Amino acid sequence: MQQKRKKLTRSLIYLCVIPLLCCGAAVLVISSLMIYNSLKREIRHNLANMTYFSQQIYNYLYPGDFCQTGDMVTKGGVDVAQGMELVDEIRRQTGVDVTLFYESIRCLTTVRKADGSRVLNTRVQPEVEKKVLEQGEEYFSDSVLVNGEAYFGYYVPLTNTDGAITGMIFTGKPRRQVMREINRNILIVCLLEMAIISIVVFLVIHYGKRLIFSLQETETFLGKVAAGDLTAELEPYVLARRDEVGEMGRFAVMLRDSIVELVGNDPLTGLGNRRSCDTVLKHTAERAGRKGRAFTIVLGDIDYFKRVNDTYGHQAGDEVLKEMAELMQKHIKHCGFVFRWGGEEFLLIYEDKDVERAYESLKRLHDDIRSAVILWQKEEIRVTMTFGMAEYGHRKSLKELVRLADERLYQGKHQGRDQIVK
Ligand code: GH3
Ligand code: MG
Ligand code: MG
Repeated sequence: MQQKRKKLTRSLIYLCVIPLLCCGAAVLVISSLMIYNSLKREIRHNLANMTYFSQQIYNYLYPGDFCQTGDMVTKGGVDVAQGMELVDEIRRQTGVDVTLFYESIRCLTTVRKADGSRVLNTRVQPEVEKKVLEQGEEYFSDSVLVNGEAYFGYYVPLTNTDGAITGMIFTGKPRRQVMREINRNILIVCLLEMAIISIVVFLVIHYGKRLIFSLQETETFLGKVAAGDLTAELEPYVLARRDEVGEMGRFAVMLRDSIVELVGNDPLTGLGNRRSCDTVLKHTAERAGRKGRAFTIVLGDIDYFKRVNDTYGHQAGDEVLKEMAELMQKHIKHCGFVFRWGGEEFLLIYEDKDVERAYESLKRLHDDIRSAVILWQKEEIRVTMTFGMAEYGHRKSLKELVRLADERLYQGKHQGRDQIVK
């Protein structure tokens, strides 16, 4: 049983939890990449704008061409070093580093070394030089090296009035700083996705466990019924389910009821047979014991029934049995039970009645039987019955109780029949 539960749990994990976790992991990776790429595009766009903006300001303040005279680089005849305050201000306002290159050499920059001095008179990386200075194209990289540190950087070529490319302008942000911001965004999205996946996994496991529990209970119930335990009950939770599993549980209970009906009922009279009588007697005794109340049983036998068969035929005898059963059923309906004990014998249970009170009721039944007329093919059949009574007491076993009622029934037979012996 435990093994089956484990198998079902394993199936649940294979079918739901693992695919869910795999999908979750794939979504995490894909969404992280998408976030990274979209933020990278956004940074590229911003850096490009910043570069054009810096170029415009610089051209506006220092109109004219770039050239080098001796060690000094000038723009429009003004030493470019005079623009240092301007680039520092741009950096302060925007947080973006700016560098001006004369050809491939840094001649003005906000980037500083560890000792605080500016990174000047150093060369740009060869691939940038090739792309921007030689091919005249703009260049973006998310890991360009500036003074040994990786940067997100954007380069735009600077041209003189004659169209010659004399340098370039760079704006950029240290990669670790940008990655910190990107990672923070990715982390928030990941945490959110993980929370959603956790909730979904929890719900799958929770409802899966309840499903397994329901199947397990139905299986246990059917196992008991198959082993002959017709008193088995199915967990009400399963029966209350509105899905196919609940339907299966309800069918299982219907199956048990049909079996009970088939094995517990007498097909001729429709009354319970000896088998169901034993069960009811047991339950009645338990109830009486709990409540501390008495109950009485009566064994009744149709007098000279053989004669009925012999005179009117077996079918007439059957009809008499059915009529007697119906009469007794009507009589006992609200105060107990009646069973076909066997042949033309019946067992009645008067619940919550001691022998004296049961006797008062039984007398009425006795009279009704005596005055009943059964019509059979224009013939009128009349029968009488003899009854033996026994009251249930705490020291009596059910076997003894039935034996006592039987003794009294036969006492009544010997005393001339058509009577009640208590
Ligand atoms: P007593 O007053 O001593 O009980 O006499 P009796 O004739 O009723 O008793 P006996 O035991 O001699 O006969 C019972 C008869 O009941 C014999 C049997 O054929 C008949 N019988 C038992 N079951 C059925 C049944 O289902 N249908 C019919 N028609 N007869 C049955
Ligand atoms: Mg008889
Ligand atoms: Mg008999």
